[in-house]
Amino acid sequence: MSKNSLEISPLMIIPAYLVGEVKSKLAYVDEHIMKAEITSAGDKIILHLDIEANEGLNNRIVTKIQRVVQALVKGAFKLKVQVLEDFIDRPVPCSIDPMPELLRRSELSQEALGIFVLGPLLTRLVAYLERRFIELADSFGAQPYRFPTLIPARFLERVKYFSAFPHSLTFATHLRTDLDAIDHFANQAVCDEQGLNVPPETFAQVNTLLSPAVCYHLYFALAGKPLKDGQLIATAVGNCFRYEASNLISLERLWNFTMREVIFVGTKDFVLDHRELGRLRMNKVFEEMGLAYRVESANDPFFIGEFRRQAAFQSAFQLKYEIRARLPFKDPPSVLKTDYATLAVGSYNYHQDFFGRNLDISLPDGSPAHTGCIAFGLERMAFALLSQYGLEMKSWPASIRKALM
Ligand code: ATP
Ligand code: ZN
Repeated sequence: MSKNSLEISPLMIIPAYLVGEVKSKLAYVDEHIMKAEITSAGDKIILHLDIEANEGLNNRIVTKIQRVVQALVKGAFKLKVQVLEDFIDRPVPCSIDPMPELLRRSELSQEALGIFVLGPLLTRLVAYLERRFIELADSFGAQPYRFPTLIPARFLERVKYFSAFPHSLTFATHLRTDLDAIDHFANQAVCDEQGLNVPPETFAQVNTLLSPAVCYHLYFALAGKPLKDGQLIATAVGNCFRYEASNLISLERLWNFTMREVIFVGTKDFVLDHRELGRLRMNKVFEEMGLAYRVESANDPFFIGEFRRQAAFQSAFQLKYEIRARLPFKDPPSVLKTDYATLAVGSYNYHQDFFGRNLDISLPDGSPAHTGCIAFGLERMAFALLSQYGLEMKSWPASIRKALM
């Protein structure tokens, strides 16, 4: 074991169905954790640190790790996964990680952790995907919207985002509107290895964040009034920000990514029927694209304190289904169909009347509106297709090739 590693025996064995969830949360436990591994038996956690381990640091980290494991594992039970579509076996020609070749060809350049520039190949593929998603929106007669990238803190607070997803927030600020502070910044600001070397008091009070999702903006625009005509279908694309610490690897997990959403607001039946109709329509589109995928029940990545309760709630009420595309290069050796490696490229969501209640969006009978959305992650969808079909256009499904020529 290297001097920078720390091996921990968790006080509770981590069951296989929770290994992924616990692992993703370990990235947030301490700033010195660069990478975390969990043995397949769930009885050992191995941490790779950016400094040499010492007793004081070890004790602090071990205490926090035990707290995370305890919070996620104690009283947990395996949620039943409901599979709505299974095309995971659709034959695909490629099983190579596209990242190294994308970087080599400058089709992708990394600006910083989780921040990438997409070159012409990926941009064309994303534009093609966008056209297909806009076709879905058009099939519903969805109204187009453009939302800002910034979102006021008080909006997110009203929909309880701070307690559900504190770990992934990204804050936006500016210099204090003070001549001395601005002058000082202009003359002194430098970037060293730690980052921008400026004292925190240079910045104004944080009141704004970078948006973590698209559909929230629509709900805020509709807040505090009766919903005109009692129903609405809208669509928008937007930049979204979710800080995922050391989980930010490759195009799979970005800090800054793009989502296209089709959003439904109305009665419960209106939202659920349209979510289902959208899924059935996308089934045809994915067939044409030749995507190997599954649609199955899922939960949002709630933070530790809320995870167990909220995940069980989402599962019980079938609030979230994910489109999980196969990533053949990640398959374990001698893989069974049930163990295929997958990545969520989109989701079919139903929020019940959560936003209607918290933001006072009312239906003609006075009851709170229900909402739901179909959300596609554009970079992830492109990444999954390249993982399945490679970078050479001649190997791509005819429908995509034709649309791009
Ligand atoms: P809801 O608001 O209903 O909770 P949402 O609209 O926020 O859901 P998610 O299911 O959270 O939607 O995300 C939609 C899609 O965005 C995911 O399926 C994925 O493709 C993409 N996505 C989410 N996080 C990231 C990330 N860190 N990097 C790249 N893509 C991401
Ligand atoms: Zn949404």
